This record gives sequence, structure tokens and C-alpha cells, in this order.
Amino acid sequence: FKRRKPSVEELLQGILAQDRLLLSQAITLVESQKASDRIKADQLIEACLQQQKSSLRLGITGSPGVGKSTFIESFGQMLIQKGFRPAILAIDPSSQRTGGSILGDKTRMQTLSSHPQAFVRPSPAGDALGGVARKTREAIFLCETAGFSPIIIETVGVGQSELAVHSMVDFFMLLLLPNAGDELQGIKRGVVEMADLLLVNKADGEALQAAKRSKQQYRNALHLFPAQKSGWTPKVSLASGLHAQGLEAIWEQIQDYCQLTQNNNYWSQRRAEQAEYWMRQSIEQELLRHFYEHPKVQSQWPGWQSAVRNGQTSSFRAARELLKLVQKED
Ligand code: GDP
Repeated sequence: FKRRKPSVEELLQGILAQDRLLLSQAITLVESQKASDRIKADQLIEACLQQQKSSLRLGITGSPGVGKSTFIESFGQMLIQKGFRPAILAIDPSSQRTGGSILGDKTRMQTLSSHPQAFVRPSPAGDALGGVARKTREAIFLCETAGFSPIIIETVGVGQSELAVHSMVDFFMLLLLPNAGDELQGIKRGVVEMADLLLVNKADGEALQAAKRSKQQYRNALHLFPAQKSGWTPKVSLASGLHAQGLEAIWEQIQDYCQLTQNNNYWSQRRAEQAEYWMRQSIEQELLRHFYEHPKVQSQWPGWQSAVRNGQTSSFRAARELLKLVQKED
């Protein structure tokens, strides 16, 4: 038999009671594309924001295979030992394109996934990257209301997802492999510039020496980057997620960052900027959705589309005419 879906109030009470099952159901609601679910989701998010619970939000990115999930598994366990309740959310741009997922693999982070003090949520399969990122931002609020902190947001270092993650976290870490020489490993300069910490991972066994050399190289390279608005100088650290080494030092650096930016007010300034950024993002997404789902646009689209494709009409005129269909009504 099919169970009744919990109401907004039941979800809120469940989240406040730190019930992980209801938290999962709440995130599913937020991820839903249905209009009726969207209304409930908005009510729930509003109610959660009233609770004014906050957390430390950490972003982690890096190429597939760099060791993100192994690192988070170890780092999360260290946090639990310190008395924290970490939540891990993933944004995986590959899951929309191919239907498969780099981050969605069930075997990832097994210990954390089953730990009562942790919450692990794999990446949702969504439509556009913007949509998934927005849902992740909402999931952050839900996890915070359930008392989780830090919230760790993980993404694969491909495409635009780093920018989205950077726009929702307080501290951003980039994981790198210990092969000195291939400077920044094809990772876009922009991503390196966003990082508060470059982490040379897999610094163990035979790779340790190479990792130390890489660390020095990255350190030198960072000098060439412009100073950060936060007043923070990005750091380079060595770690081995597999052997749980270097984690304490990383945690100390994160705490130093928090102290610095809370003292110089950058922390709250950045949170405010992020909130505004997401308001703008939501408006843009809603406008696009409103346009493309508009019945008149849908009925006239094929005509304009073929006229543009075979050169009868300019792209600009077609765009203007289609936009008029939506404007006239308002
Ligand atoms: P992800 O794709 O970035 O999440 O990478 P994974 O965490 O799945 O790790 C990819 C591979 O690297 C796995 O075979 C891990 O066992 C291995 N690995 C991860 N972390 C370390 C580490 O710190 N040291 C070593 N030597 N291997 C690691």
C-alpha cells in the first residue's frame, strides 16, 4: 500500500527532531519538478529559514579519481570524533547529461552513509545544472535545520559546477594529485582562483616526495594570483584521505579562515552576497521556465524554429516575436 506523503508541518517537525528519513523525504520534495510540490517546498524552506540555524559550509572539488569520496569519508569521521554531525551533499553535472553519475555510485562513503551522526545525500538527477545547484542550496537549509554542520558540498571538477558550489559555501577546497610538473593539471585557472585551500591528496607511500614537490610548486604559483577579498591567503596542504593523514591540519586551517573572516566581517558579507546571487539565479530560472512553458510560445515555437534554421528569419527577430507573446499578457 502507498503511504501518505508527510505534510509540510510533519516534515518540519521531523527535521527539527533530526529524523534523517524525514530529512531525506524533505530533500526529495525540494527536488521534485511538480508545481504542487514546489509550493510545499517553498513553505518548508521558509519555515526552516525562520529557525535561523547556521552551519559551516565547505565546498570540495577535484577531478574524478583524485580521491574526493575517500577524503570526505575520513574527514567526516574525524569531524564526528570531534562531536560534529556532518552532512554531505553532491552536485554531479555528469548525471544530467548521461543519466549516469560520477558521484552517485552507491559504494561511496559507506561508513559515513550508515553513521547515525552523519547524513549523506547523493546527487539528484536533474534538468539543468542551475536547477540542481538551486536544489542543493535548498537542501543545505534543510540539513542546517536538522542541526548538521559542517555541510560538505562535493562536486566533480568538470564544467561549471565549481562556480555553483563556490557560490554556496564559506570555504572552498580543491583536491589535486601529487604529480609535480603538470602544472595545475589542466584545471581551469578560474577554479584555482576560487580555492581557499589547495589540497595535494594521496600524499602517501611512493608519491609522498612528489607531493611535497607539488606543494612547493603550487605555493609558488599561488603568489601570482591576485589577493582575495577575504584577506585570506590561500593555503597548500598535503593529505592522504586513504590513511587519514593531514586532516587535523586542514581542519585547523578552516578554523583559522573562519576566525579571520568573522573578525573582518567578510563572512557575513559573503553570505549576504550569496543570498542575493541566488535570488537573481532564481529569477532567471523562473523567467526562462515561464517563457518556455508558456502555451503561446509552445505553439508558435516550431514555426519560428524552422524559419530560423532555414534562414528565412533572423534569430533576433524570431526571439523578439516569441518574447512578445509572453510580454503582451502581463
Ligand atoms: P573520487 O572520484 O575523487 O571520489 O576518488 P575516490 O575517493 O573514489 O578514489 C579514487 C581511487 O583513489 C580509489 O581507488 C582510492 O582507493 C584511491 N585513493 C583515494 N584516496 C587516496 C589516498 O589518499 N592515497 C592513495 N594512495 N590512494 C587513494
